[in-house]
Amino acid sequence: MPTVLITGANRGIGLELAKQYAADGWTVIGTAREPEKADGLRAIGNAEVMQLDAADADSLDDFMAVLGDRPIDLFINNAGVYGSNDLDRDEWLKTFEINSIAPTLLAERLKPNVAASGQKKMAVLSSIMGSIGDGNGSSAIVYRSSKAAVNAAWKALSNRYREDGIAVAILHPGWVQTDMGGPNANIDVETSVTGLRAVLDKLSLQSTGRFTGYDGRQLPW
Ligand code: NDP
Repeated sequence: MPTVLITGANRGIGLELAKQYAADGWTVIGTAREPEKADGLRAIGNAEVMQLDAADADSLDDFMAVLGDRPIDLFINNAGVYGSNDLDRDEWLKTFEINSIAPTLLAERLKPNVAASGQKKMAVLSSIMGSIGDGNGSSAIVYRSSKAAVNAAWKALSNRYREDGIAVAILHPGWVQTDMGGPNANIDVETSVTGLRAVLDKLSLQSTGRFTGYDGRQLPW
C-alpha cells in the first residue's frame, strides 16, 4: 500500500487526514511536535508517529535521519498557524517560518523520498486567505501574506519538480471546524478531508501547480 506523510497530524485537519488514509489501508506517518501527547494520532492502529517541529532546523535534521530513504507516495504539509493580527515583527517572521518557509524546505528535503515512490505527489494546506485575486474582505495581514508566499513558493516547486515526475497541489480546505477555524466554520473535518482526498486522488502532472479547493474548484491566485 502507498505511504502518506502528514505534518501536524495530532489534531484538526491533519488528524482527520491520518484517520481517513489509515482507514483506506495506507501506511500513515503522522508528525507531531509532542508525540507523547498525540493521543488521537497514536490511537490510529496503523499510523506511525514521528516528532517534527517544522520551524526547528535541528528537529528537521533529526526527523530526516529517522525517516531515511523510505519512499513517500504522498507528502502533505498540513502544519500551520494563524499567527497574530498585530503587526509584530517577530510574530510575523515566526508565522512566515511555519507557514511559508518550513513547508518549502521540507518539500526539498523530502523530494528524493517522493521521487522514489509509486505515486510521486506533494500537497500543501494553504488557504483562500492567501489569494489576492479572491478579494475577500479579511484584513489578516500576517496570515494572508504567509499563505500568499507559500502559494508562490509551491507554484515554483511544481515547475521545478515536473522533470522529476512529482505532481504538486496547493489546497484550500474550506472554512473548517477546528481549533483554527473555530466552531462557527462552514464545514466539519470529515467533509473537508473527504474532498481534499478526492482532489489528491486525481492529482497528476497534467494538473500540477494548481490552487484547488476541497470541492475541486480552481481558485484565483
Ligand atoms: P489546527 O490549529 O487545528 O492544527 C494545526 C496543526 O499544525 C497542529 O497539529 C499543530 O501542532 C501544527 N503545527 C503548528 N505549528 C507547528 C510547527 N511549528 N511544527 C509542526 N507542527 C506545527 O489547524 P487546522 O487543522 O485548522 O489547519 C490545518 C492547515 O489548514 C493549516 O495549514 C491551516 O492554515 C490550513 N487552513 C485551515 C482552515 C480552517 O478553516 N481550519 C482554513 C484554511 C486553511 P500543535 O498541536 O503542536 O500546535
